Amino acid sequence: MRRIVLKVGSAVLTQDGNIAHRRLDNLVEFIVKLQQKYEVILVSSGAVAAGYTLLNLDKKVVANKQALASIGQPLLIHTYRLEFEKYDIICSQVLIEATIFSDTNRLAHAKDAINTLLKNKVVPIINENDVTAVEELVFGDNDQLAAYVTHYFDCELLTILTDIDGFYDKNPHENDVAILQKIVHLIDTKQLNQKHSANSEFATGGIVTKLKAADFLIKNKKKLFLSSGFDLSSAKEYLLDGIHNNGTLFKA
Ligand code: ADP
Repeated sequence: MRRIVLKVGSAVLTQDGNIAHRRLDNLVEFIVKLQQKYEVILVSSGAVAAGYTLLNLDKKVVANKQALASIGQPLLIHTYRLEFEKYDIICSQVLIEATIFSDTNRLAHAKDAINTLLKNKVVPIINENDVTAVEELVFGDNDQLAAYVTHYFDCELLTILTDIDGFYDKNPHENDVAILQKIVHLIDTKQLNQKHSANSEFATGGIVTKLKAADFLIKNKKKLFLSSGFDLSSAKEYLLDGIHNNGTLFKA
């Protein structure tokens, strides 16, 4: 069976300081549909934001952010679990560290576990292990983590669901005349080196980390599809029906 990764950002999963339940429910329903065609791995952000719904700590302090992730991660997984249960689907939590991808032995173990989960129709929900992460060694954003997961766990495509419907030639929040790029084959270094441009309070990456993820995947002959997580219709069309009307496809 074909294997894909879906990555969903904090901007999609949270709304006014709460977990965005309706959007999470729609996402789960979508994943269940996708399972007829693909083995699906989910990379989910939102742990810090979920933690913040229970405890107001200053997110600028690293230890506080790690504490919030530790509080929020089980809450987030619990929310996913309740939703997947409605479809009789089991989901699981996989917390990983960036360092496993350069450690053959640990990577092999992780791959075996992922293969076993997927063989049994379980949806692995991956996030970075924030509490034990060392600042210099973390991905820091799940876009790049998701790109590594896609490549090293033998997936053909990463779909990033975000708060915008695709990649534009200019930041559409700053330029009225920005044009959506439907297909991108090459990302130039200038774009990869621009400053981060996250749009919401809990977002960490902005478009740059998505471009870095796309660049990595293109170089490894894999694809990245960027589309809206608010309105899943473009992602549904592309992944379920093979129709590319909206959203950006990055491929060699
Ligand atoms: P997420 O939490 O889903 O990772 P981010 O806020 O980190 O979302 O990234 C998406 C945001 O990147 C968009 O809402 C937009 O404000 C910003 N952005 C900057 N430049 C561009 C561009 N050229 N095309 C699309 N989005 C852009």
